[in-house]
Amino acid sequence: MHHVVGPASTPGVHAPLDDAPAASFIGAIRDSLPELRLLTDEVDRESHRRDETAYLETGLPLAVALPTTTEEVATLVRLCAAHGVPIVPRGAGTGLSGGAAGIEGALTIAFTRMDRILEIDRANLTVTTQPGIVNAALKARVAEEGLFYAPDPASYEMCTIGGNLGTNAGGLCCVKYGVTRDAVLGLEVVLADGTVLRLGGKNVKDVAGYGLIPLLVGSQGTLALVTEATLRLRPAPPPRATLIAFFATLEAAGEAVAGITAAGVQPVTLELMDQVTIQAVDDARGLGLDRDAAAMLLVESDLPGDAGADELARVIPICEAAGATLVIQAEDAQEADWLRAGRRFAFRALEAKGIARMEDVGVPRSRIPEMLREIEAIAARHAIVVGTFGHAGDGNLHPTFVLDRDDADGEHRLHEAQRDLFEAAISMGGTVTGEHGIGVARKAWLVRQRGEDAVRVMRSIKAALDPQGLLNPGKVL
Ligand SMILES: Cc1cc2nc3c(=O)[nH]c(=O)nc-3n(C[C@H](O)[C@H](O)[C@H](O)COP(=O)(O)OP(=O)(O)OC[C@H]3O[C@@H](n4cnc5c(N)ncnc54)[C@H](O)[C@@H]3O)c2cc1C
Repeated sequence: MHHVVGPASTPGVHAPLDDAPAASFIGAIRDSLPELRLLTDEVDRESHRRDETAYLETGLPLAVALPTTTEEVATLVRLCAAHGVPIVPRGAGTGLSGGAAGIEGALTIAFTRMDRILEIDRANLTVTTQPGIVNAALKARVAEEGLFYAPDPASYEMCTIGGNLGTNAGGLCCVKYGVTRDAVLGLEVVLADGTVLRLGGKNVKDVAGYGLIPLLVGSQGTLALVTEATLRLRPAPPPRATLIAFFATLEAAGEAVAGITAAGVQPVTLELMDQVTIQAVDDARGLGLDRDAAAMLLVESDLPGDAGADELARVIPICEAAGATLVIQAEDAQEADWLRAGRRFAFRALEAKGIARMEDVGVPRSRIPEMLREIEAIAARHAIVVGTFGHAGDGNLHPTFVLDRDDADGEHRLHEAQRDLFEAAISMGGTVTGEHGIGVARKAWLVRQRGEDAVRVMRSIKAALDPQGLLNPGKVL
């Protein structure tokens, strides 16, 4: 099934401007912001048409603006409001739900040139940054000060902090340190009418009025544009102790995850890969993984000194009781880095095998074994190869359906498998998206999961903050 991103699919959204008003809009931007980098060539606009959801039908942006300051963003938003032009905020375009996908005739505002760190405050353990900085670059910069920014999506070397705020991104160490939202203390945002609003700051506790920060984080650019963020840091943790455990069945690995959670052990990483993923990663990276195993867990501790080894020592008997066939501790930091990088590479490794469509379901952690069983059954029922990996410690799995490139009937089976997967997640009290977002790709499922009343509340918030419907229309709602 194809979802169309654009005014055609979005009731109440303005149709793209005709040539003359479009030219007048572009002219107004150039007059107001002569220094702004504004891309209007078709090739440049095409390159901002998609995010990582290549299967979605997208629209061609009218232009792409690359601002460097909040004032430029506010001016752009005011011009869009005056000319009735929708806005698509964009980071690095690594999103997996179509949040940054182009809308026909819209202005895409790409934040990649707003990539300056404004302050590292050691006394308050915060970093204040523009949104366009790449996650790994921010991590590396604060590490120079002996500090640690926790949220680490597997895409951290590509994705931006603004995109992470847009999606409320998760990652490999969220199981211990929480998701992006948990790291945000302050935001500067531009509202749909061009108002610049500063929220929060450096207070760790602050309950004055409604919580607007948690509302905006994860809203996928539909409520406001983030132009600055103050994020919580921690002292850099010591090097990690790392182990991998292999299992003869996927369910056994799921039992181990549930057991680790129930025992109250809190590793910094608790990631899973199934056999299809193990083999794909091993083909790509030659890590010498056990290719016959049905599943593998990657477990890490960042507790200091012996406490790290002790934490892993609590994990080993739980894995063995669940039926682990082999448990190996990483020899050194280099080996641990290779294993972690291998897990981060899972999606790219599966993409090498065919057309790969990554899903993002979440369930309460005690139900991981059941969900894993269900995923295998769904894949078998629809005759689709599935590689499942993910942040098992968070109950968040990425079943990735892999189709042969010449599979004529593949899209149809894939759609049915996705439907069964989402129904299974919802029936277990889970979610159709743990961290990638509803975007466009899962829009049809929002009411099914949240219910009419909750979505009505969401629509009224959207209408209050964006009455003209110009901020990323057709996404999420
Ligand atoms: C190989 C791979 C692995 C991945 N692993 C993970 C993972 O482990 N965890 C995870 O959560 N995600 C993961 N992702 C998905 C993706 O990387 C994240 O969703 C990431 O947060 C997107 O960042 P981006 O800079 O690419 O944003 P984009 O894709 O450009 O945008 C994402 C959303 O944020 C909005 N947005 C961007 N900037 C702003 C802004 N300044 N203000 C307001 N809204 C804005 C956009 O409109 C869009 O809705 C992975 C993707 C890939 C390809």
